[in-house]
Amino acid sequence: MHRLSVKTWSTPVTDETSRPIPCALCGGTRFTLQLSCEGFSYMRCTGCGLVQMNPQPVITEVAGRYREGHGDEYLSYELANEKSFLHLQELALKDVGFAVLEGPLRAKGTPTILDIGCATGALLERFRERGWHALGVEICTPSAEYARQVRNLDVRTLPLIENHFPPAAFDVVLASHLIEHLNDPAAFVQEVHRILRPGGHFLVTTPNIAGFQARLFKSRWRSAIFDHLYLFSIKTLSQLLTQRGFTIAKTRTWGGLAAGTAPSCIKRLADRAAKKFGFGDVMLIHGLKGPFSGKAS
Ligand SMILES: [Zn+2]
Repeated sequence: MHRLSVKTWSTPVTDETSRPIPCALCGGTRFTLQLSCEGFSYMRCTGCGLVQMNPQPVITEVAGRYREGHGDEYLSYELANEKSFLHLQELALKDVGFAVLEGPLRAKGTPTILDIGCATGALLERFRERGWHALGVEICTPSAEYARQVRNLDVRTLPLIENHFPPAAFDVVLASHLIEHLNDPAAFVQEVHRILRPGGHFLVTTPNIAGFQARLFKSRWRSAIFDHLYLFSIKTLSQLLTQRGFTIAKTRTWGGLAAGTAPSCIKRLADRAAKKFGFGDVMLIHGLKGPFSGKAS
């Protein structure tokens, strides 16, 4: 069983400054232990169920990992997996019917897309090829530099909020395997809401703590890694989005068993079942920007 749960690459556990945090979703301060990993723990909020690393490394330490700390290793990891990550992202977009959204957006002129955590910019390049105005945010400086030099893309290295994009600037915002790395996902979602035009699309992909593999492997689950500060479920992530003014248009999960862990016929069956019943290993939520009162409920 152990060898079946190879963890996703992460920066190694170090003795960064950490502190206890209130729940990022409901502000609660009562938790139960969810997963105990080597050097860190995930706690479940008794109020809303959000699973969060707690105590949590502070934001300056976390940001440093992707820059001077381990930026080059991140770039190597992204480059080594670039083709498969692009393929998965395109499959996910296809699966939520993105092509149907794209038609009306393109009919109105040049649609705008922001890919937050765009890594080497492979997906952004595809959008640009299809006539989109494509912009990226990537705080991993070597990856951002690669996207600029090799793909000639406009990629910003400041965290989203520090870019001060104008309000209602984008038709679509993507965040793939990004939100779980952030110290303050609520502030992030609020900023995405501000920079999307009314009715704009937010597509957020992240590991699913309520999936089959998470339940099976527990602390050995491949996504229970030091770089993941939050482990969302469809329920907790939907709540975070609706709290900040989004309407949930669609949710999807994928992946029953990791590649190489079972004969391909078994894996196919497991993958199909996971997708159908919503217990896949990775999930995508498609949110639409609705009105936000300015105060999270
Ligand atoms: Zn909570």
